[in-house]
Parts: sequence; C-alpha cells; structure tokens
Amino acid sequence: MNTVYQSNEFSRRKLLKFGAGALGTATLIAGVGCDLEQPKSAVENQNMTPDEALQKLMDGNQRFVNNKRQNPNQSLVRLTEVAKGQTPFAAVLSCADSRVPVEMIFDQGLGDIFVVRDAGNIATPEEIGSLEFGTLVLGAKVLMVIGHQSCGAVKATIEGKAVPGSISSIIDAIKPAIQANQSLEEATKANVKFQIKNLQTSPVLSQLIQEGKLKIVGGYYNLDTGKIELVS
Ligand SMILES: [Zn+2]
Repeated sequence: MNTVYQSNEFSRRKLLKFGAGALGTATLIAGVGCDLEQPKSAVENQNMTPDEALQKLMDGNQRFVNNKRQNPNQSLVRLTEVAKGQTPFAAVLSCADSRVPVEMIFDQGLGDIFVVRDAGNIATPEEIGSLEFGTLVLGAKVLMVIGHQSCGAVKATIEGKAVPGSISSIIDAIKPAIQANQSLEEATKANVKFQIKNLQTSPVLSQLIQEGKLKIVGGYYNLDTGKIELVS
C-alpha cells in the first residue's frame, strides 16, 4: 500500500464516518475558517461541561472494572484525526506507577486525556504548568488527581528513611501532606487532597474553575479491583 493510496483511503473513510450532518454541525459551532474536517468528538469535547467530563471518565472506569472495555478512539482513523490537533476532554495527574495506566483504566484512547504522571502524583511547578496548558489551552474540562493503593512514593515518605539521588525531592513534596499515624491509604488520600490544593494556587486553574469551565477532583485507584473511588 503506497502513501497516496493510504491518504485517500483515510479521507474517504473519514467522510463516510462523519457524514455531511456532522460536518455541518461542526462548522456551525466552530465558526467560519475552522477545519471542516474537525471530528465530531472534538466539538463534543469542547462543549462538554465539567460534570459531563467527569461522568465520561467514571463510565469508562466502570467498563474497565466490569471487563467491558470498548477501547474507543484507538483506530488508525483516529490516529490521523488527532495528528491535526487535540481537544482532550479530561486532564489527569497520576502516579507514574506502572500499574496505573491512565487511558486503560478509563477506557479511553488517542487524544482523549491529557496525562501528567510522576512518582507520588505531586503538583510541582512543571506539573502545574503542564496542566494549565492541558486545560486553558487544550480545553480539558475535568482534572483528576489520582493516588493509588500501595503507592511506593507515599510509603517511602511515611517510612522517612534516607533515599538515593533526586528521589528526596519527591519525598519533600509529599511530606507536608501526611500526618503521623495515618495508614498508607489515609496518607495517599491526604496527599491527593494536598496536591489539589497546590493546583488551586494556580491563578489560571482558579479562574477556569470560577468560570465554570473546569472542575478538579481527587481519585484513589484500587489495584485489586481497578476501581477509581472519588476522594473529597
Ligand atoms: Zn505511586
């Protein structure tokens, strides 16, 4: 299959998929001069409310838990659509732990979630800046901070032993969140709330919240069941 054929084939399939009606709607909402081929999902994401975006994440997690994943937006057609631009409906700050693959646990695909990950899901200036970009510029409507069961970064902070290299900077960012005699689960949830407070210090994120364009929520991921529980 040569490149020209591939390109034509993708265009033809895209037209078939979205049809004239969807293209018309997209043009009306997006305004004159916008890409006529803007996918329907991009318009839907731009018009979604923060509550609808949160519901979409939780519905996806429920499918994951029930082993009923739909694996949406993972086709080659989707790949070429989002190559032109992204409009993720959600942003996530999660731990880098290999057992918390964000798109998978929410049953989402390419271009759906703006993901920032680091050990301990800490919100330091680089993470805050990244999430300002994902929300203000790209338009994500919900921002979820996710801690998880058996988090090594929170556990190391509780234990308070010496750690090598720059790992200490992660411990320092978690330390103010936790209190003595907390269980690992309690400390992990306290860390989620503390990192949300850090995010709320951003004037950019605060303004989006005030304008009703963004919602920040906490989540706790259960490694045994795959379930996300909201932390408030
Ligand atoms: Zn972790």
